[in-house]
Amino acid sequence: MKAYQQTLSFLDTLKLRGVSHCLDEIIHDAEMDKTSYLTFLNSLLSVEIEYRIKRRVERNMTAAHLPVVKRMDQFDFGRVKGIGKSQVANLLDCRWIDNKENLLFFGPPGIGKTHLAIAVAVAVMERGYKVCFERITNLIKLLKTAEIQKASEYRIRKIMKSNLVIIDEIGYTPIEKREANLFFNLISEMYEGVSLIITSNKSFDSWAEMMGDSIMTTALLDRLLHHARIFNLEGESYRLKNQKKGE
Ligand code: ADP
Ligand code: MG
Repeated sequence: MKAYQQTLSFLDTLKLRGVSHCLDEIIHDAEMDKTSYLTFLNSLLSVEIEYRIKRRVERNMTAAHLPVVKRMDQFDFGRVKGIGKSQVANLLDCRWIDNKENLLFFGPPGIGKTHLAIAVAVAVMERGYKVCFERITNLIKLLKTAEIQKASEYRIRKIMKSNLVIIDEIGYTPIEKREANLFFNLISEMYEGVSLIITSNKSFDSWAEMMGDSIMTTALLDRLLHHARIFNLEGESYRLKNQKKGE
């Protein structure tokens, strides 16, 4: 018993939480299977590694600030034109993130832009990448307060250090010139360093008007579009469709 208690204490000191969580099970299995020392050591280490990967994914999911969790298998591709199952399957290899490419989802409200962005985020986080999700309105608030509020500064730093940043709902609210400048600076700093997913209900032509500065908007689009895959989604609003069904 002493050896058992001491082992638990060693595992605690070494922070081997994965092993300490299922020590009894691992020992039981090894005794049943009469495994070799090497196989036993091997299974101990793989349990710990698996546990750490799982914990890291959970931490990244929390840190992403997703408004809600959506998955790709909940998305009905039959309802929307402009994106197909195979295109999405291609995205799941994550090469576009390694290449710092961007995804841009355009389309009317309720078409599934945010759902797709979140589902991609969840899938890439499960593969170990770090993601941050922000609506443009909140992102701008963070940028405006980063100099005076520690929490905002911390979040912006986190955003810049992630592998993928989702900027949701560009276009619903106009952006002041100063705000647009802060946004432009952020995008410039992340350019070719962090992948972006942008969702917008407005096509590029109306972005200049929304941001109140056509030269800056051109420079912004230049960076966003340099390495980008664009999805123009069409179809009936999923929200309205479901409302109709409920009538
Ligand atoms: P958007 O961001 O384009 O306004 P959302 O992604 O927020 O739209 O979608 C609105 C709601 O409808 C969400 O609950 C979303 O999960 C659901 N939804 C939209 N399109 C689909 C779809 N093709 N299949 C399944 N659910 C969908
Ligand atoms: Mg949305």
